[in-house]
Amino acid sequence: MSRTIFEKGASGKSGDYIHENDCPVDQEKLVIQRNTPMNLPRIGEQGVIRHFCELASRNYHIDKGIYPLGSCTMKYNPVVHEEIAGRGEFGGLHPEQDPADVQGALELMYNLQESLCEICGMDAFSLQPAAGAHGELTGMMIARAYFQDRGEERRTVLVPDSAHGTNPASVAICGFTPETIKSDSRGMIDPDLLREKVNGQTAVLMLTLPNTLGLFEKDLKEIIEIVHQAGALIYMDGANMNALMGIVRPGEAGVDIMHVNLHKTFSTPHGGGGPGSGPIGVLGHLADYLPVPRPVRKGQSYDLDFESEKSIGKIHSYYGNFNVFIKAYAYILRLGAEGLREVSENAVINANYLMNLVKKNFTVKYPGPCMHEFVASSDPLREYGVKTLDVAKRLLDLGVHAPTVYFPLIVSEALMIEPVETEKKETLDQFASLLERVATEAAEDPQVLKDAPVNTPVRRLDEVRAARNPDFRWSPDGNPAEES
Ligand SMILES: *Cc1c(COP(=O)(O)O)cnc(C)c1O
Repeated sequence: MSRTIFEKGASGKSGDYIHENDCPVDQEKLVIQRNTPMNLPRIGEQGVIRHFCELASRNYHIDKGIYPLGSCTMKYNPVVHEEIAGRGEFGGLHPEQDPADVQGALELMYNLQESLCEICGMDAFSLQPAAGAHGELTGMMIARAYFQDRGEERRTVLVPDSAHGTNPASVAICGFTPETIKSDSRGMIDPDLLREKVNGQTAVLMLTLPNTLGLFEKDLKEIIEIVHQAGALIYMDGANMNALMGIVRPGEAGVDIMHVNLHKTFSTPHGGGGPGSGPIGVLGHLADYLPVPRPVRKGQSYDLDFESEKSIGKIHSYYGNFNVFIKAYAYILRLGAEGLREVSENAVINANYLMNLVKKNFTVKYPGPCMHEFVASSDPLREYGVKTLDVAKRLLDLGVHAPTVYFPLIVSEALMIEPVETEKKETLDQFASLLERVATEAAEDPQVLKDAPVNTPVRRLDEVRAARNPDFRWSPDGNPAEES
């Protein structure tokens, strides 16, 4: 571990080169002046610059190399969209401004809503949710309001075991009871099992599509019919629309509510805490329940509509994360319908190409064509005493980011791999050859994997201790700093 900036500094060192203030000071006005010096590191300007450059260079990021985290869609996001979003015309706006003065911003939000409706086949979208999971919660609140309105007491939400982990959590937070549906040997929902599970208590079937095995439900049509016949709704987790754009319009298939992740599919960097955006779309019969305010068009101009008796209300301050909307809208306009379809086609081709390379050394429990991602397993390496965790740590030593591990839970020793559409064949070949190398090492010298990582700034962390006793602050005496 390298030293903190405090340890690099020393008393006497200094970056001060501004003269002492020689203007007269009105002592009476200095009521909030500090009496004790601030505990700042004493270090010169160049020391500061080098310290932070060194930290930045240790970071692994998508601009450095492939980032194959399954379900996360860590793709390259064109920098020009950042530049557009950073323009003063957008950055200088204030959300309290009168709609008459921010027509362009309202038009952008309105058009983005309309574009998402077109892409997804939904009738109305709200851009307010700040993330995918927030979209899910909003969708569940809409379903709850809908059934309350109809005087129906439906408490259960069916969630396949191949759903994203946030799904059952959102269901529970909203006060519904999640009930798991086991996937069949294909990794999909068995319509007969679903028929047994659905009853008058069922409010929603919450589908991740493609599911977390990277598979598209083969019996989607039948599944949707079963659920609708029971008077329940279909919620689709569309976080990974980069497998479906221009190919499937979920609303046309009968999906009642869905969210998309602008920070996955639609050109917004993510990780490191956001900001994200998880717009929620509904079919016409649920449009009145969407959060307010809603950007609307009135003749030639745009306005914000706060009037909706049935609305579930506000779920975000103002309208959501506007800065993300700009990037997503720029991306959609640049690519157009054909370009978006190509994005999905490339995401699917890349995943299938990589899956076929990886299959040589790792098992793929549910083979056959996948969508944007696939789930491999390190089971074949068990005989050498090697686990998926060791494979992931060894990949770090080899200079790439590891895939998502141990998820979904229905695959043992899972490696969930999503190459995304922006990676070239050459990069996929390189990544596959690294996985092959790791598999060979496992057979020949498994200790190398168990000792990994050795090339990273820190080695294996005690994750349990980190979760139980987090220590976020450095203090000069070596003890965890007290909250102040
Ligand atoms: C990423 C993801 C989510 C959660 O999205 P957040 O923005 O992280 O809350 C939900 N479902 C699926 C399928 C995802 O890939």
